[in-house]
Amino acid sequence: MEDYLLVTKDLTKVYKETVAVQSVNIHIKKGSIYGLIGKNGAGKTTIMKMIAGLARPTSGSFEYTGFKGSEKEAFSRIGALIESPAIEPNLTAFDNIKIKCLAFGIGDKKYITDLIELVGLSGSGKKKAGKFSLGQKQRLGIALALVGDPDFLILDEPINGLDPQGIAEVREMLSRLNEERGITILISSHILEELSKLATDYAIIDYGRIVEESTNKELKEKCRDKIVIKTEKVSTAIPIIESLGFNDYSVVNDKTIHVFDRLSDITVLNMELAKAQIPVESIGIESSDLEEYFLKVTGTVPGERRKA
Ligand code: ATP
Repeated sequence: MEDYLLVTKDLTKVYKETVAVQSVNIHIKKGSIYGLIGKNGAGKTTIMKMIAGLARPTSGSFEYTGFKGSEKEAFSRIGALIESPAIEPNLTAFDNIKIKCLAFGIGDKKYITDLIELVGLSGSGKKKAGKFSLGQKQRLGIALALVGDPDFLILDEPINGLDPQGIAEVREMLSRLNEERGITILISSHILEELSKLATDYAIIDYGRIVEESTNKELKEKCRDKIVIKTEKVSTAIPIIESLGFNDYSVVNDKTIHVFDRLSDITVLNMELAKAQIPVESIGIESSDLEEYFLKVTGTVPGERRKA
């Protein structure tokens, strides 16, 4: 049994005519960085709002299995940056954080300067937050979410609109928070590739539904270049594959085998299978990068959103 921090059960949110989130079941492990990937309007923000206690589910439920105590206590262990951060434009980063600290009963100046340093805003000095770049605003939003030392950080598209260096920096900061402070992180994005360097687990969401939940390892496996063999005789094909010295393969289902090594030997493999009279329906090399994979599982054809 996995050590989960949060589990949702058929979580659903309907806004008037729109089914924003439909029967969502996600399982967030303690200590993981969980990526929620979906196109704009897929329902990521709505899921985050519900589990942060900012919106009420229409039906279904969620449980913070990783926290002891009431739901209210669990909410107090969450730091969230959902949609745009509540930043006061006329104040500096320091004063913005100070206001939030006061609400938490934290009066220590060093706590604030440490947070500013942690998110890489030390250089912002007396600059008012209203004049910050998008990257600086995102960092301040993350710093605000970190006030009170949460165990669970919910970040809605924190790398949206950042340049590649900004993305790398935020990624590095989140990795550090996860490793050094053991914070579990839920992070959303519409770009799978961007999260692939950070997330340990994923859910791909499309039109309010989870189309796939997998670990990073499983996802990378699916996207690796491979020989795909379709045959009715999987069990007889395996000894042939092994006898030819292919070691890295997996049986995907009773009709499909994936071979990951020596892709250039596909002709030999095909010939040997034919020689052994194994009926091969198809054999070929498949490759897809993460983004192609994302488009494949979510479908590229734009469709009407389902009505409630
Ligand atoms: P984005 O990245 O564009 O915010 P998202 O994946 O976060 O996308 P949501 O913001 O959760 O998606 O929206 C899911 C659907 O629910 C969309 O069709 C949106 O228009 C609709 N929706 C969200 N909030 C409301 C609301 N308050 N009232 C009506 N419809 C809403």
